[in-house]
Parts: sequence; C-alpha cells; structure tokens
Amino acid sequence: MTAVAVVFGTRPEIIKLGPVIAALGPAARPVFTGQHYDAALVATFLSVAGVPDLKPALPGIGGTGRADQLSLMLTGLTGLWREDRPDAVIVQGDTNTANAAAQAAHYLGIPVVHVEAGLRSFDRNMPEEINRLVISAVADVHCAATDENAEFLLRAGTPASSVHVTGNPIVEATRAMLPTELERRRILAETGLTDPDFVLATIHRPENADDPARLALILSQLAALGHPVVLPLHPRTRQTITRYGVRVPSGITVIDPLDHGRFLALACSATLIVSDSGGVQEEVTVIGKPLVVVRNSTERPEAMRAGFALLAQPETILEAAQRLLDPAHLARLAQTPSPFGDGQAATRIATLTLAAIRTATAPSPVTAVPSQATPPVTFLQAA
Ligand code: UDP
Repeated sequence: MTAVAVVFGTRPEIIKLGPVIAALGPAARPVFTGQHYDAALVATFLSVAGVPDLKPALPGIGGTGRADQLSLMLTGLTGLWREDRPDAVIVQGDTNTANAAAQAAHYLGIPVVHVEAGLRSFDRNMPEEINRLVISAVADVHCAATDENAEFLLRAGTPASSVHVTGNPIVEATRAMLPTELERRRILAETGLTDPDFVLATIHRPENADDPARLALILSQLAALGHPVVLPLHPRTRQTITRYGVRVPSGITVIDPLDHGRFLALACSATLIVSDSGGVQEEVTVIGKPLVVVRNSTERPEAMRAGFALLAQPETILEAAQRLLDPAHLARLAQTPSPFGDGQAATRIATLTLAAIRTATAPSPVTAVPSQATPPVTFLQAA
C-alpha cells in the first residue's frame, strides 16, 4: 500500500496540508513533529486536519534553538523513516520542520514534494528564507502556488520538468472553513464584540514580537486606528509583553489564539485586518478583505499587487489603513479573484505525488552503450 508521509509542525502547515491529506486519502501518513509546542495552538488544528489524536513524533523539540531543532528533527525523522520508509514525503512552506523533513527524506533517497515552493523574500535575515532555499535544493517536485513562484525556481536552475503551478491549498482550506452568517454572528457574540466596525490584528513574527519597543509602537498605532481592535495573542508575543511589561492600550482586546473557523469568522466580519502573518496574506485574497502587513519584507507580493494588502512599518500603519479603506478600492477588491489559485491545488499535489512515486519505483531504463568509445583522457606532460 502506498504511503505518503505528510509532515507538519506548526499551525499554518497543518491548515494548508489538511486538504492535501484529504486528497491523498488512505495513502496519507500524517507526521506531526511537535515544533509548535503550545498545546492550545495546535490541538484545534489537528482536529480540522482530521487527525485530532496525532501525537508529536519527536517530543521535546518545541522551544529549542534553531540549530538544535533542525538537527534533532533531522536525526529523529531519519530514524523514523529508516524503520518505516514512506514512498514519498510532502513538506509545506518554510519552517524548520519542512527543512529537516525535506533533508531527511532526500538523504534517504525518498522523493520530496514541496508545497508552496518558490517563495522568495530575498531577505536572508529571515530564517524562513534560508529554509526555503535549502528545501528547493533537495525537493524533487516543486508545487508552486503562482507563476511568479515557479519563475523564481526556473531562474535558479531548477529543472522545468519538476516545477508545477498548482495553486496554494490555503484557498480550499479557507473556503472549507468559511462560517455561515449565523455562525459568524454567534462567534462575534462569544468574542464579546458589540461594534461591527472592528480591526482584527495578529502579531507574531520575531522582527515584531521579540522587540519590545517595536511591539509597543505597533500596539499604540493599532489603538490609534480609531476602531476597537481584537488581538488573538500568539504565545511568542505574549511572552514579550509579560517579560518586558509592554503596555497594551485600552482600545485593544487581547484574546487567546482562535481555531481556524473562529479566526476566519472574525476576519470575514472585520473592517480591516492588520497582521505580520504569511498565511493571512493569502487568506484575505479569498475572503476579499483589506490587510495592512506589518513587516520589513514579504515573499507574497501577489496579495499586494492584487490590491488586497499594503506593506507597512509600525509608523505607517495608519496611512496604509486609510489607503486600503477607500470605498472605491474596497469595491474593486470585492471583484478581484485570489491570485493564489482556484481551490484545486490539493488534488493536483496529490496527483503529482503519486506520479513521482511511480517514476521513482519504475525500473530504470537500460542505458544504451555508446556506439563509439569515448577517447581516453590525456594528461598534460610535465615540461
Ligand atoms: N490563525 C488562526 N487563529 C489565530 C491566528 C491565526 O487560525 O488566532 C491562522 C490564520 O488564519 C492563518 C494561519 O493561522 O491560516 C497563519 O499562521 P501564522 O500566522 O502562525 O503563521 P505564518 O502564516 O505567518 O507562517
């Protein structure tokens, strides 16, 4: 029986690989590395992906430093797959989990399929950019979300036959989780939101969450937007707020991270979203909402070009918000399709994976003996 290891370790990977696991059916062997160690952050996502009871395959790696995490996962997954070898390994995105799993599979000679291949920020200060480069170097099948992502891979010399534009399964993952109007109202009421005109914010990237002064500035700018702000707080950001006593202004309601359905319910209802998340940049294009991206750089320019998002520094959040909330601009967004795919990515990825397994296991063709022997190598004679 065909076995495809589908590896994930963080919230966005689980969300995006859920549809791929479903498309693979009984061939899927989900592997949760345990990179995100916050139980609350992970539990609900495992349920959504249809693997609620999945235990971390490599307990103890969450919260360790980058080098330790990568080496522990590389060793752990290698051991796991030596014992029980899958026919292919699917990784998603640019996490340490995806990097370690791609390398482990490659060194064992197992075909590697990379979902969301070809993203580039060209910012080598981002750990994710280095992970992307490593994964691209070892993957056998590159599933790019957009033409532009495929183009980056081709320009870097990746064989064209291994690059496929599949779309990003976030499109189908988002569509599948969209709440009905009734659910939306219930979830808003549960969150205590009385004003329908609110801003939803998430902040978790190291460049924002680990720097208390920058984080304080972001929070004050959010409060200055003039709308109530809901902030589902990532554990990393919470840690900085607690450790450095960062003040959260009164207009901001801090809540625990939400499960995907609840998060999307708030996102669909919000007037504006402010976030540094990668996945949210894709989701807003599916739900048609404006997004201020608080980051130094982005590897998803498609959302900006289509008009859904604007890149901002903490000081320019207000200006970006004003531009995005222009009524004529909002009307255009409502008519703009997502640049990240048509909702069929997971099916394409499953088909490509099964084809890669067939190619890898097919008997190798007999190489024809050259009709003329190659001339012997001659060495320069020493003078
Ligand atoms: N998300 C969620 N609940 C939250 C905050 C975010 O379900 O409280 C989802 C969001 O919809 C998106 C994903 O988490 O699909 C993004 O994950 P994250 O921002 O952690 O990682 P990134 O995409 O930046 O790698």
